[in-house]
Amino acid sequence: MYRNGGRYAWVNGSVVPEESAVVSLFDHGFLYGDGIYDTMFARRGLIFRLDAHLARFRRSRMAIGLSIAFGEEELRGAVRETVRANRLHDAYIKIIATRGVGSEPLLDPRGCRPNVFIMVRRSLSQMPDAAVAKGLSVKVTGVSRLPETSLDPRVKSLNYLPSVLARMEAVRAGCDDGLLVDEQGNVCEATGSNIFIVRSSEVRSPVRSILEGITRQAVLDLCLAHSISSRGQPLTLDDLAAADEVFLTSTAGGIMPVTRVDGQPVGPGEPGPVSTRLRTLFDEQVEAGWGGAPID
Ligand code: PMP
Repeated sequence: MYRNGGRYAWVNGSVVPEESAVVSLFDHGFLYGDGIYDTMFARRGLIFRLDAHLARFRRSRMAIGLSIAFGEEELRGAVRETVRANRLHDAYIKIIATRGVGSEPLLDPRGCRPNVFIMVRRSLSQMPDAAVAKGLSVKVTGVSRLPETSLDPRVKSLNYLPSVLARMEAVRAGCDDGLLVDEQGNVCEATGSNIFIVRSSEVRSPVRSILEGITRQAVLDLCLAHSISSRGQPLTLDDLAAADEVFLTSTAGGIMPVTRVDGQPVGPGEPGPVSTRLRTLFDEQVEAGWGGAPID
């Protein structure tokens, strides 16, 4: 029923050819960034931690008071069907809910009819493979994450301008990615990934002012399973400078070692043993089907 080589998206309950999956100019998602989303990946026909992604999607949605016409079970089926329609086994998947179109293109969300979309692409990598192999260079940017009182950082919203600006600042400085700080100047995360440091063989990562990454949680689970000590704590700039290792985690990047911060080498300036071990364990486990929901 789906054309071989065709590209399909899911819009409000139906799989449609990608070219007909269009968003209105008047959608509040477009006009005001009024919406939320989540990003997942499939490997070998298994969607990694699908339920955790859909649970986060629901929490984001509830946090902005957005009701949609689809339950958890329907969305689970919709994600799987969209991947199948695109005949992909390795895929990058996004599910997006917007406030939709109201009677006037004004900010008031009352009366809007929400939209839900799912898009799929062949696997995408957040950073080029060569940069990850060498270790990323990051810059501590002047961009603060929005305070929790403005927008709960756990909400994966359509407002990514601070991240976009941080990435632009980092790229201008010749770096691969930028780090965002909180109001106290502690490091929260990178533009689209969580941050960890390793100090004296202990893995540490901030807990507050972050998006609760699914990959971050997978790393903590791996640490527990493999007796690697781990701890959540705020990350000061001094902690970052004194780290033996630094790495980032995300759905589209997996575990990515960082070897330079603000032009200074991290440890000896090469991907360190703990990051490398965790990266290998993560890749092996995913390859073996760890926590994957079948698309069929
Ligand atoms: N922080 C931010 C700001 C993100 O946008 C993301 C996801 N792109 C992450 C962290 C990592 O989350 P996950 O591991 O669930 O992809």
